[in-house]
Amino acid sequence: MKTISSIFFFCILETTAWGWARHNLLTPFVIEDVAWLKKAGEKVSASWILVHYTDEPDWGMDQNLELSPNQKFMGGTKGPTSQAFRHLYLKKWNLKAPWRTFHIPPREMGEALKRAQTFYDLAQTAFEGGEPYWAFRFLAWSLHYIQDLGQPFHSSQLLTPKFIAWDSVFNFEALIKRTTQIISNYHFMYEDYVVFRIEEETKHKLKKHFISALKGDTFMMSSSAYLIARHSADDSNRLSYAIGEACYTFFGDQFLNPSVDVPNSPKGKFPLAPYEQSSRLSEKEKTLFLKNTAKSLQKTAFYTRSLLELAKEEFLKK
Ligand SMILES: [Zn+2]
Repeated sequence: MKTISSIFFFCILETTAWGWARHNLLTPFVIEDVAWLKKAGEKVSASWILVHYTDEPDWGMDQNLELSPNQKFMGGTKGPTSQAFRHLYLKKWNLKAPWRTFHIPPREMGEALKRAQTFYDLAQTAFEGGEPYWAFRFLAWSLHYIQDLGQPFHSSQLLTPKFIAWDSVFNFEALIKRTTQIISNYHFMYEDYVVFRIEEETKHKLKKHFISALKGDTFMMSSSAYLIARHSADDSNRLSYAIGEACYTFFGDQFLNPSVDVPNSPKGKFPLAPYEQSSRLSEKEKTLFLKNTAKSLQKTAFYTRSLLELAKEEFLKK
């Protein structure tokens, strides 16, 4: 047990937390039908501010901070990985979902829910103080955390037991190192692939699986940013096992190979184009990957719009 439980102690240390790789690519589709955002401000529209600044919390503001003893389990306190603590939320381990809730220590960890609320509150203060520009900039930050939580690699640490380096179970150090690397490999492939596919859908006449999942006008009524973030994390955690399994099948087992290190390889070393055309995969396998990812994106979009609805209700109520 010591061996298995300790894997997860180290796992996250080397996993960079970027959430969806490019929030600015997702957000325009998500808010396309949110009419009240289109009203132009003095210089720019609210939607422009939201699109341009949803990535801002990834630009360094949450790095190199000493905040909690839990940071040592979630990316440490130095460098790019140190922002993980504020961009992830891992719910408490639950026997009913032993894989997707597995992490050590098994308590609730990560500040992403609180961050969503903090910046929502700042947005409201700015709005009431007659600073709409800053209100939307803070709201963009709040959205960032809600969107991060919609990415299943950010609400679950292991996703599937297939990511465990089973060939190294008798060598403790190798087991930890390799499992960490395997999760990072699939995590990076997944985020890069989602960006790649959305760009392809924009440029070519591809079936718009991902773009149509992001678009829409559905939302839920909720009373706080914290609760919306919590729903976003819960839904994506629920999808994480399916996503982990689908990633394993879609990208293949080559990413279990010790010589493959996606995060530290030059961009383009693992081209993204072959996967959908691959004869290795059945149509059913391809569809399963696309369908589950579309579900994640659809939830991410849904909770983004739910936060905007809450802001509309509260900010514009007078
Ligand atoms: Zn992030």
